[in-house]
Amino acid sequence: MPIEQLLILIKPDGIKKSLTGNILTKLSEARMLIIGAKAVKVSEELAKTHYHQLKDKPFFGELIDYIQGKIYGEPWDRVLAFVYQGEDAIVRMRKIAGATNPEEADPVSIRGAYGRITTKGVYENVVHCSSDLSEAEREIKLWFKPEEIVKSIYSTKKVVVEKEKREVWT
Ligand code: UDP
Ligand code: MG
Repeated sequence: MPIEQLLILIKPDGIKKSLTGNILTKLSEARMLIIGAKAVKVSEELAKTHYHQLKDKPFFGELIDYIQGKIYGEPWDRVLAFVYQGEDAIVRMRKIAGATNPEEADPVSIRGAYGRITTKGVYENVVHCSSDLSEAEREIKLWFKPEEIVKSIYSTKKVVVEKEKREVWT
C-alpha cells in the first residue's frame, strides 16, 4: 500500500469543546506517524486560500469565519495543524474523520460523534482532512514550511533570504 501524507486540522469548534485529546486518540487507532504539528491563528488570507475551491458556495463567508474561529473569539480562535503519514493515509483518515455532514457521518467517526450543524447551516465538523493526494500536497505546502516537517516529503531547494525581518527570542 502506498505511503501517503495528509493535512489534518482540529478546527476551532474542536478546540472550544476541548476535544483535542479525544480526536488524537481516535486518529491514533490508524497507527500513523505525526510528522508535523503546530497551533495556528488562521488569517483571512490563509482561510480563503485553503478553501479556494469552495469560493462560489453560498456558505463560503460563514466557512471562512468558522475556520478562523471568529464566532468563538479569544482564546479559541485558532486551529491545531498536523501532517500525518502512513499507508493509505488519506482514505483511512477520512474514514475515521467521517462524512462532511455531521448528521450523515458514521456516529462512531469524529464528525459523527462531535460535529453539529449551526443554526446558520454551517457544518461544524471539528476536523479538516485532506481528501486526495494533490489536495494533500497543496495543503501541506500551504500550512507548513519544509523545516517544520521532520521528514523530507516533497522536493525542496535552498534559497538565500536577505534582509528578512524575523522575530527571535530576546
Ligand atoms: N461545509 C458546509 N456546508 C456544506 C459543505 C461544506 O458548511 O454544505 C463546510 C464543512 O465545514 C466542510 C468544509 O466546508 O468540512 C469543506 O467542505 P468540503 O466539501 O471540502 O468537505 P470536507 O472535505 O471537509 O469533508
Ligand atoms: Mg474538502
